[in-house]
Amino acid sequence: MVEPGHPEYDTHREIWNAMVDRRPALIARCTSADDVAAAIRHAREAGLEIGVRSGGHGVLGLCVPDGGLMIDLSPMGEVRVDPARRRARVGGGALLRSLDQATEPHGLATTAGNVSHTGVGGLTLGGGMGWLARQFGLACDNVETYTVVTADGEILRASSAENSDLFWGLRGGGGNFGVVTEFEFRLHPTTGRALIADLYFDPSEPAARSALRAWRDRLHGAPRPATLTSDMMTAGDAPFLPESLRGRPVVTAGFAWIGEMADARRYLDEFREIGAAAAESVDEMRYIDLQSSGDDRHHHGLRRYSAGHYLTELSDEAIDAYLTRGIPSSGGTIDPSMLPGGGFQGYGGAIAEVGDTESAFSHRETLVEFFAGSTWADAAEDEARMSGARAWAAALEPYSSGTYVNVIADAGDEGVGRAYHAAQLERLAEIKRTYDPDNVFHLNQNIRPAATVVE
Ligand code: FAD
Repeated sequence: MVEPGHPEYDTHREIWNAMVDRRPALIARCTSADDVAAAIRHAREAGLEIGVRSGGHGVLGLCVPDGGLMIDLSPMGEVRVDPARRRARVGGGALLRSLDQATEPHGLATTAGNVSHTGVGGLTLGGGMGWLARQFGLACDNVETYTVVTADGEILRASSAENSDLFWGLRGGGGNFGVVTEFEFRLHPTTGRALIADLYFDPSEPAARSALRAWRDRLHGAPRPATLTSDMMTAGDAPFLPESLRGRPVVTAGFAWIGEMADARRYLDEFREIGAAAAESVDEMRYIDLQSSGDDRHHHGLRRYSAGHYLTELSDEAIDAYLTRGIPSSGGTIDPSMLPGGGFQGYGGAIAEVGDTESAFSHRETLVEFFAGSTWADAAEDEARMSGARAWAAALEPYSSGTYVNVIADAGDEGVGRAYHAAQLERLAEIKRTYDPDNVFHLNQNIRPAATVVE
């Protein structure tokens, strides 16, 4: 137990998003399911709100309860691999890097997100998108068994055979039903190799629009090892960029390929037909290195805000809205360094093969996910930075079919209503009534025991 005044109190209450500055009354650094059960019982007896922390990357920082009890699972970060059975048992507080690093020496992997200091816990419970998802499904689709401590301190297993309703809810329903102390993942053989290709365009040029349309046309038929990507950002001064693009807004169209490199190169040859790019970057690397290649860019200690959508189709109009980067047509001069960054990531493949009603995760039909994010250091810029990302997301809103529960950055029921289809939401509320009728676990994207009201 770490309390205010303890020399490590600030270290343990700090999370990834520096905007979150809350002070729990107690931090329970748990090392076992029994510890978690004891912490839950103590919090309930003392009337303390409970927050559950795995990797601490939830953008709203709901894992840190002001004046409440934070169940800190980070001491439970162990990963044990059984290569013969192709399974990994992963502690509820493990980081993605521990999972990837433990499986890689065996030539095995499972779907994990793209930044290695993210937590397995929050990412998997909300769905879990990564470069392997089009081949093997979302992270949650690869969980065989969850070990869960419920609101009354009971330790349960949930799988397709045991507590199957809870299993269904845990596949995308977030931290609503209990504290997951262990995930058992299925693993898959991989080549361990990755190729990342990005073609760069000036977003103000017609070539960008036509390339993005051609990129869009490839989303449906893309081979499974390829996840199509597009990013909009303010370029740095990388040597491969022509002088005219350095420090300027750029848009990319590209893909990440995990698998055979000869196949990736062949795909790249035909992919280049989307249009003559102003610059190109192509990198081959180990998959495990790709998994940490964004770590520095997304480091801890800065202020963050994000907004996003799922889209089931990407019309020409949606591409035009994307290319605005949230700048109103009335224009004005905007400092490119203040603009949000973000992009699209292709879904489909194995993600879409899981039946619509098989899991709480509701957006299997997604063609692409759109994501807008702002990063800054000075609190004086909070409003400007957040409104930039909001404006970009608002431009794409008319084309949206929902949102990913793990990127919702504004509290309230509206986000939950966009993250789940009505049928899923109804069943989630039923499961909540069974496992957490008093809504003990409410510091999350909350499923209320009574039906969620979307205003
Ligand atoms: P936490 O803040 O520790 O957890 C978030 C919430 O999940 C908690 O408030 C709690 O309600 C619940 N929770 C966490 N662990 C448990 C547990 N063991 N039992 C019960 N409840 C629990 N998402 C993707 O799908 N793919 C990506 O590639 C991806 N990349 C990202 C990169 C960065 C830099 C960031 C910040 C986020 C990224 N995300 C990605 C989103 C990510 O899935 C969410 O931020 C997720 O909430 C992070 O989980 P966490 O365990 O680190 O966070």
